[in-house]
Amino acid sequence: MVGRRAAFLDRDGVLAVPEFRDGRSFAVRRLADFRIYDGAAEAVRALDAAGWAVVVATNQPDIANGQVAAETVEAMHDVLRRAMPLAAIETCPHAQDAGCDCRKPRPGMLTRAAARLGLDLSASVMVGDRASDIAAGIAAGCRTVFVDRGYDPPQARPDARVDGIAAAARWILSPQAATA
Ligand SMILES: [Mg+2]
Ligand SMILES: [Zn+2]
Repeated sequence: MVGRRAAFLDRDGVLAVPEFRDGRSFAVRRLADFRIYDGAAEAVRALDAAGWAVVVATNQPDIANGQVAAETVEAMHDVLRRAMPLAAIETCPHAQDAGCDCRKPRPGMLTRAAARLGLDLSASVMVGDRASDIAAGIAAGCRTVFVDRGYDPPQARPDARVDGIAAAARWILSPQAATA
């Protein structure tokens, strides 16, 4: 059986606008502060319409660290689900030092979704704004698209570099992506 292709999307800095403190980006902690980037819903709809399973894969260590309730994160994910067609949202709620197999740069969220949804990882793409997103995509055997917001450049070379989710979707849906 040939699996469906997936577009794995990081959440903060890709779909949702992060907070910036001291030049670093962080997930928002209040539902009222949760904002989706302009154009993100349209980009996800275009991927979905072209047959891609769109799966969010997000590290949320603030849950384990007691900085945000799991219910609040789930409410944010309900906002995402209402705004755009998502096949799944995979969340790593563990702390940075927990040693779990799902926290990016490990590929556990991607391989878990692939097993459950019947996804073909080798035909799939991981999109993220951090080095750990690119590393997780490579570890899962996916192609990678780096959303370059000027922080945290990846060590390994991504297949494409873009300025946001709209351009990421355009690259995934473009003919050159098929041969990258
Ligand atoms: Mg991010
Ligand atoms: Zn985890």
